[in-house]
Order: sequence, then structure tokens, then C-alpha cells
Amino acid sequence: MYPDFIVVGAGVIGLATAFELARRGASVTLIERGRVGRESSWAGAGILSVLPPWDYDKGVIDLARYSETLYSDWVASLEEASGTDCEYRRSGMLMLGTHDDDRARDWLATFCAGGEKVAARAIAPQLSVEREAWWLPHTAQVRPPRLLKALRGALSRMDVNIIENTEVLGFCQSGSRIVSLRCREGEAGGGQFVVCAGAWSQRLLGEHALALDICPVRGQMLLFNCAPNTFGPMLLEDDFYLVPRADGHILAGSTVENVGFDKSTTAAAREELMAHAHALLPLLNGENLAAQWAGLRPAAPGNIPAIARHPHIDNLYINSGHFRYGVTMAPGSAQLLAAEALGLPAAIDIAPYRWPTEAHASKSS
Ligand SMILES: Cc1cc2nc3c(=O)[nH]c(=O)nc-3n(C[C@H](O)[C@H](O)[C@H](O)COP(=O)(O)OP(=O)(O)OC[C@H]3O[C@@H](n4cnc5c(N)ncnc54)[C@H](O)[C@@H]3O)c2cc1C
Repeated sequence: MYPDFIVVGAGVIGLATAFELARRGASVTLIERGRVGRESSWAGAGILSVLPPWDYDKGVIDLARYSETLYSDWVASLEEASGTDCEYRRSGMLMLGTHDDDRARDWLATFCAGGEKVAARAIAPQLSVEREAWWLPHTAQVRPPRLLKALRGALSRMDVNIIENTEVLGFCQSGSRIVSLRCREGEAGGGQFVVCAGAWSQRLLGEHALALDICPVRGQMLLFNCAPNTFGPMLLEDDFYLVPRADGHILAGSTVENVGFDKSTTAAAREELMAHAHALLPLLNGENLAAQWAGLRPAAPGNIPAIARHPHIDNLYINSGHFRYGVTMAPGSAQLLAAEALGLPAAIDIAPYRWPTEAHASKSS
């Protein structure tokens, strides 16, 4: 028998979408070209916030805020179902650099009790020089590979059929409905189809993409191996951030590069990230550099994902284009998609996330 839903792509968005649909009683099959959770979602830093949160359009802020309110319960339910600790914790975030102080103050007054301007070294004495920074004590993080493992474990418990190493190549259509997905191994039929293929979503949809504008933007990251509790808060300066894990690992990221689907790492990025990390936190150097990796973010104009039913095909949906904030936005996006597909009320206004039918004038990050 065909499943109610086939979700294409097992990154954090596809996994979260499958989880939300299955939790509401639908039968779900998840089809992944490679292995579960090995693309952008695995590469992410796991900061659960828009950076800086006062600098984005309402569509980004609303979805990120909505997701942030869901996160701790969502993670708790995944951890309970899977037995995997996602390392969700509110380590707080120091925001260095130049900010519009009035906007920052307004945002903090509305959304972040206890947020204030501080001497950064009062929070992080290991910093190289004294600087002023905005301190957001409630900003949380999660460890993406663990979150992905927990999602997979929870889906297995819910009898979601996960099919790996199977690439969806196209769609078989009859009138205004998709009948099945075309894969190298054969066809996969289902009731409704949700594309969560990250940076590859537009390419997969082909002519069905209409004016969807999702392209890959490479991000490179460094991992340092330090003693546990070496550094406490997350830290942001312009596009650069440090994210300390509980076990002492510290991430330094990330680059923003338009190089198509090239996922390789470069010496230039390593040097640039290393120099920035070392300048802020001198204990980070070549000796404790443990790894470098890259991922392809699914970039959409204005950082606003598409979470919607296709305008002309009744049973085709998209949940993709989360660009820099897919880990942050995952639970909220999955709930919006499930509400749309199951005919339930949505918790926030879904208008900003509709399937674009007219091209955007410009693209911003
Ligand atoms: C360096 C870096 C740092 C980041 N840091 C953060 C952060 O701190 N916080 C945050 O919120 N976000 C962060 N992000 C962004 C976040 O990781 C992405 O927005 C998010 O992972 C997108 O999830 P996704 O599931 O849409 O894409 P992906 O994780 O890329 O998953 C898409 C999946 O679809 C599969 N697929 C593609 N085509 C097909 C096909 N034809 N058939 C079957 N399967 C297919 C792919 O194999 C892949 O597994 C970061 C990203 C990078 C690269």
C-alpha cells in the first residue's frame, strides 16, 4: 500500500517534516539520495538563532522565534524516543562588532529578558582584548550530528520507512497530481509528496520549481579540540562565530561562498577562519585544529524558506530554502508544512513562505 506522504531528502528539514507528519498519524516514507543527515544539516554549527536577530525581515524573525519556542520540548521528545542526547543547551551568545544599538535594545526588550550590553571579558575572560558586546544569555545551541541521529531514531520508532542511497530523478504526473516519483531503482508511489532536498531542491523540481530560487552557498568550518569547559558562551563578530561544545570542542565558522555544488574545503578558508579564531581567542591555533569541513546551504532570497503547497499541483509540497537557519527553523517549519498538508490551522502567518511564482528582484543573505 502507498504511504500517505513521501518526503524527499533526509536533512534536518526532511527528518523534522517526516517526524511531524508521522506524529499526527500519517504513514510516511523518507527517500534519501545518500545517507541520512550527511549534507548541510550535518555541517551546521547548531546555533539556534538568527544572527543578529534584530537584522532580519519579519518572515525570518517570526519563523525563527516560533521554532525557538518549540525547541526544548521538541528535543526532549526526540531524546526520549531515541535515547540520544542532542546536547541542547542555552550557552548564551556574545555579539561583538558594530550593531544598530537602538534596534538591538528594542529587540532585547521584547524578546530577551536579561539581554544587555556588557564588557565581553566579564562573560568570557579568555578573549584576547576587552570589547563591548551585546550579551544574549538565553541563546541556545544543539549539536547537529546528534540531533540528526535522534531524529532518525525517533522516526524508526514511529515506523517511518527510511530509504537511503536512492536518488529521486523526477516526477510522474497525471493531470494536476503527482502519481509517483521516478528513481533509478523504479517508481515510488504515494498520496502526497514533500520536497526537502536542501540546496538540490530547485534542480530536482525542474519545471515544477516555477520562480523558486534556491541555490547552494558553501560554508566552511573549523573544529578545535580543547579541554572541557575551556570557553563558555557562543560568540559572534560579523559573519564569524565561535561555538563551544560541552566536551571542549570549539567550532569556528563560517565562510559564505558562491561556488555552485562544490563541497570541497580550501586552504584559504582554513587560514582565514584560523586567523579570526586566533585573534579573538589566542588559545585556538594550528596545534589544536582537529578538522575542517564544508556544507552547501540551501540559499533563498532574504533567507526566507518556501513552506507551501505547489500552486498548480495539488499533492506536491516544498519545505526548503532555509539558507543559514535551517537547524534553527526546523521544528517550526515542519509544523507549518504539516498544518498546510493536513488542513490544520497554522501557528503563524504562512504568507511569507508561499511557493514563489514571480522572480525576486534581488538576493540578500
Ligand atoms: C557551515 C554551515 C554552518 C551552519 N550553521 C548553522 C547554524 O548554526 N544554525 C542554523 O540554524 N543553521 C545553520 N546552517 C544552515 C543549515 O545547516 C541548513 O539551513 C539546513 O541544514 C538545511 O537543511 P535541509 O534539510 O534543507 O538540507 P540538507 O541537510 O542539505 O538535506 C537535504 C537532503 O536532501 C538530499 N537530496 C538532495 N537531492 C535529492 C534527491 N534528488 N533525491 C533524494 N535525496 C536528495 C540530500 O542528499 C540531503 O541529505 C549552517 C550551514 C552550514 C553549511
